[in-house]
Amino acid sequence: MTADHRYDLLFEPVRIGPVTTPNRFYQVPHCTGMGYRLPKSLAAMRETKAEGGWGVVCTEYCSIHPSSDEQPLTTATLWDEEDVRAHALMVEKVHRHGALAGVELWHGGSSSPNLSTHVGSIGPLSRPAAGVLPVQSRAMDKHDIREYRRWHVAAAKRAQQAGFDIAYVYACHGYLLAQFLSPSNQRSDEYGGSLENRVRLLREILEDTKEAIGDTCGIAIRLSTSSGGPDGAPEADEKREIVELLKDLPDLWDLSVHDYTFEMGTSRFVKEAALENYVSWVKQVTEKPVVGVGRFTSPDTMLRQVKEGILDLIGAARPSIADPFLPNKIREGRIDDIRECIGCNLCYASDFQGIQIRCTQNPAMGEEWRRGWHPEFIPAAASEKTILVVGGGPAGLEAARALGQRGYAVSLAERTRALGGRVSREAGLPGLAEWSRVRDWRIGQIEKLDNVEVYLESNIEVDQILEFGADRVVLATGSHWRRDGVGRQHDQPIAGWEEASILTPDDIIDGAVPEGPVLIFDDDHYYMGGIVAEKLAVAGCAVTLATPEPVVSAWTINTVERDRIHARLMRLGVRIETNSILVELAGKESILACAFTGDRRPLEAAHVVMVTSRKAQDHLYHELEDRIDITRIGDCLAPGTIADCVRSGHLYAREMDVEGEIHVRRETPPVPAA
Ligand code: ADP
Ligand code: SF4
Repeated sequence: MTADHRYDLLFEPVRIGPVTTPNRFYQVPHCTGMGYRLPKSLAAMRETKAEGGWGVVCTEYCSIHPSSDEQPLTTATLWDEEDVRAHALMVEKVHRHGALAGVELWHGGSSSPNLSTHVGSIGPLSRPAAGVLPVQSRAMDKHDIREYRRWHVAAAKRAQQAGFDIAYVYACHGYLLAQFLSPSNQRSDEYGGSLENRVRLLREILEDTKEAIGDTCGIAIRLSTSSGGPDGAPEADEKREIVELLKDLPDLWDLSVHDYTFEMGTSRFVKEAALENYVSWVKQVTEKPVVGVGRFTSPDTMLRQVKEGILDLIGAARPSIADPFLPNKIREGRIDDIRECIGCNLCYASDFQGIQIRCTQNPAMGEEWRRGWHPEFIPAAASEKTILVVGGGPAGLEAARALGQRGYAVSLAERTRALGGRVSREAGLPGLAEWSRVRDWRIGQIEKLDNVEVYLESNIEVDQILEFGADRVVLATGSHWRRDGVGRQHDQPIAGWEEASILTPDDIIDGAVPEGPVLIFDDDHYYMGGIVAEKLAVAGCAVTLATPEPVVSAWTINTVERDRIHARLMRLGVRIETNSILVELAGKESILACAFTGDRRPLEAAHVVMVTSRKAQDHLYHELEDRIDITRIGDCLAPGTIADCVRSGHLYAREMDVEGEIHVRRETPPVPAA
């Protein structure tokens, strides 16, 4: 069955009510930032997963009614016939490859602010919406409960009409049914108070859904298996009783945990299979199949979880995003070809910012329809051009790999002894070891290509480029962090920087451990400021981190790690100065100004680490741009994330020999003729 029979077990079918999966690979519901807005993009993306061997491919959370609206975040919707048609598009494409299609029917309850639909928010109790929005729900009365049940059934029927094989009853992540389940639900009627009462609505919805569509659809429940406790130590609480109460009522148990930042934590904080002891007991309670997640990329871990009776189906969101062909690669014995997720959560960040999904490891993610990119296939070379890639960081590696895959003759020159550039350097920072997968996968692929030559310890300057005589030259020479403090807050260098002891993240990565108190000025707001603080604090330095924002590493709210970073720095004794701008350096005195009042205060610091902005290393480009066919990619073009660098390298390779304007398709609603 598989090229390597050790993994045959992963390719067994599993029965879910009236339907049967072709194997145990299950793409659990995950957001995409596309939802109801981009149905063609979504259908093409989900199809790629089915094509790559995922036995079940699910939607993102799918609103059943306008009273469950999270805009500006983009959800799927099943409100009307038009939605049915949009979903049918995806279902048909998923079925085409023999996979089952699942839909996660969702109502957000009190956490849905309904800012766009302006339909009153509802919940078991009258409570404020999530975040800081000035919206509060009304407590559902009996009529509301009846209406909610009716909406759920209507949406379930629409799901059936669209052709779905699996429909969810979604009872976790703090949404409506989870709000009813919560011990905080102390309604005085039969839907609140005792556990039996709090489970009542969930039971009714399960029964309603089964009755409505259970003849053709498997009914899955998504439930959290613990309500609290420190990471890795689930609290023994009433969740077990809930599973015991419902037992074999659903056709499938899809399990998650209370803390979203743990369930889908970044690799900096959470490792593969971290949910194991949260879910391992469920199969002892129910006869029905169980699916769970754990950022699984190792087939051996997957196999063990099935063999040990922890899971029946290997659930995955991120591993299926980073490699839609993961199951097929296991089946074909191509384990080395698996593009493993690095746990950076940039995929989630896209959705959280209201834009369509992207992925650091898989530059084709989200581009399947819009640009026609496929994660495995790429058009063959259209000429015999030779290409010199200068710099072996993520941009250079991806450009060389993808050009090589197309069939071009590629030379990749790297100044240092090893490939990887910033990926190798940053993977040495605390918790980021898995980021090296960006480098390792690309090196592995390049090694299989005869048409890509790698030259290490090759410092390339103008003369070498001219002597080499490649038809095209692409610079992927990266960037370095600035010392002078120029960034968001300052257009000009910070006064006194030349006389002060200034370090940059590059110095810290190179191993510098300053003596005496250190001030980190973080005007970057992604991971670097916080992680440098962590590294120095662990090395015993007295560290202060100043940021113009109200929290450290402010942007990492999008990667669901901001609060964890802040907490870790507090525990390490890092002094945190929020709403603070470094405005002047006077020897060992740094002057901070309040971001609101401008009031200045001095702070003693022997050294300052500037985490403000980066400078592209692009002198070769400026010296040669008028003389040869040369271009820039990655940080050398514009400093960005590792995902930006990979994408930039990929785009360069895709565009080679493409004539004229690149066509990027847009999904716009049909406009009637004027
Ligand atoms: P990016 O993130 O854009 O891929 P990186 O900074 O990660 O860029 O990588 C740039 C790589 O380019 C580094 O490995 C660096 O050693 C290499 N490099 C920089 N300048 C040259 C050069 N002139 N010749 C060869 N390699 C270079
Ligand atoms: Fe994994 Fe990062 Fe890709 Fe998300 S963006 S799937 S976390 S590699």
